[in-house]
Amino acid sequence: MARVHNFNAGPAGLPLPALERAQREMIDFEGTGMSIMEHSHRGKAYDAVHAEAISLIRELCGVPESYYVLFLQGGASLQFAQVPMNFLPQGKSADYILTGGWSEKAYQEAQRVGTARIAATTEVDKRFARIPRQDELKIDAGAAYVHMTSNNTLFGTQWHYQPDVGSVPLVADMSSDFMWKKFDVTKFDLVYAGAQKNIGPSGVVVVLAKKSFVDGARKDIPTILRYGTHATNNSLYNTPPTFGIYLIRNVLAHTKETGGLDAMEKHNRKKGDLLYSAIDEDADFYRAPVEKGSRSYMNVVFRLPTEELEKAFISAAAKENMVGLAGHRSTGGVRASIYNAVSFASVERLVDFMKAFRKKA
Ligand code: PMP
Repeated sequence: MARVHNFNAGPAGLPLPALERAQREMIDFEGTGMSIMEHSHRGKAYDAVHAEAISLIRELCGVPESYYVLFLQGGASLQFAQVPMNFLPQGKSADYILTGGWSEKAYQEAQRVGTARIAATTEVDKRFARIPRQDELKIDAGAAYVHMTSNNTLFGTQWHYQPDVGSVPLVADMSSDFMWKKFDVTKFDLVYAGAQKNIGPSGVVVVLAKKSFVDGARKDIPTILRYGTHATNNSLYNTPPTFGIYLIRNVLAHTKETGGLDAMEKHNRKKGDLLYSAIDEDADFYRAPVEKGSRSYMNVVFRLPTEELEKAFISAAAKENMVGLAGHRSTGGVRASIYNAVSFASVERLVDFMKAFRKKA
């Protein structure tokens, strides 16, 4: 079977055992004579899958009972609007930490809803090469919440410290590094993540939200946009993306079987360290534009001496079964997304290719 080395930024590769399980269960789910897609979202068969997916998230991330685990739709992009609609009342202002294109989009949506201010930005000439230091965060102590983006998919930066925002509620977009390792959920009032990078297919957003935060949210907005609606209905207010949630179940059951998030962190650090050291060893040819302390273990961004060489690199890699290496359309360059499901062998293969390409160039 010809599976490629998949470095896509999202949707991205999924663990083969999770896909094979879906293949086995596709036509006849657990002897019910139909696939899980064909089941009612209010029936027993789907209900068990839904509950298992939630409990795997709770167990693997250590989500306490004082938090809701929700499955929503509309992508992380809808969260950009839904967060301020729920938590930014008139007369209040929300703080945004800008570290890349996605956090800028979140900030812009908040400005459509109410008043938002920039608590820190590391933008220089439209590029974001690092995460701000704690002493650069100018948090408004009266803010409705602070919004951050834990990993910047486009620029390849990632937070490696927990920001101190005092007693202001902290909201994080973790779309591109959710569950790459364990994290302390209780440091956040709300976390959201599109599933399509680390834990499943597109079409599902996972939200972890402190119950008291959700309970204090605005109620004067459309029913479907209220987190409270989905919390009260266990994410079954309307028809959820059942097949996507089923696949999340498969991915996370596999994550659990293979050692949970501690093993996942080791696996991810080993891959990232190998790739960054290959870049640094050849620093007169490959160049990482991100400051060392802010480097992402999920999206490894690097440049070659010219754009022509970058194009040649990406197409030669594709011929050798390594796909998805083009940088985001807004940034260019090369980007290897090495999410949870990317194997160490795929990264080794890429590093070998980089060395050979450099020799030939
Ligand atoms: N936030 C981040 C950090 C992302 O990487 C992305 C997608 N790449 C989004 C938000 C937007 O997600 P979606 O396309 O699911 O709306």
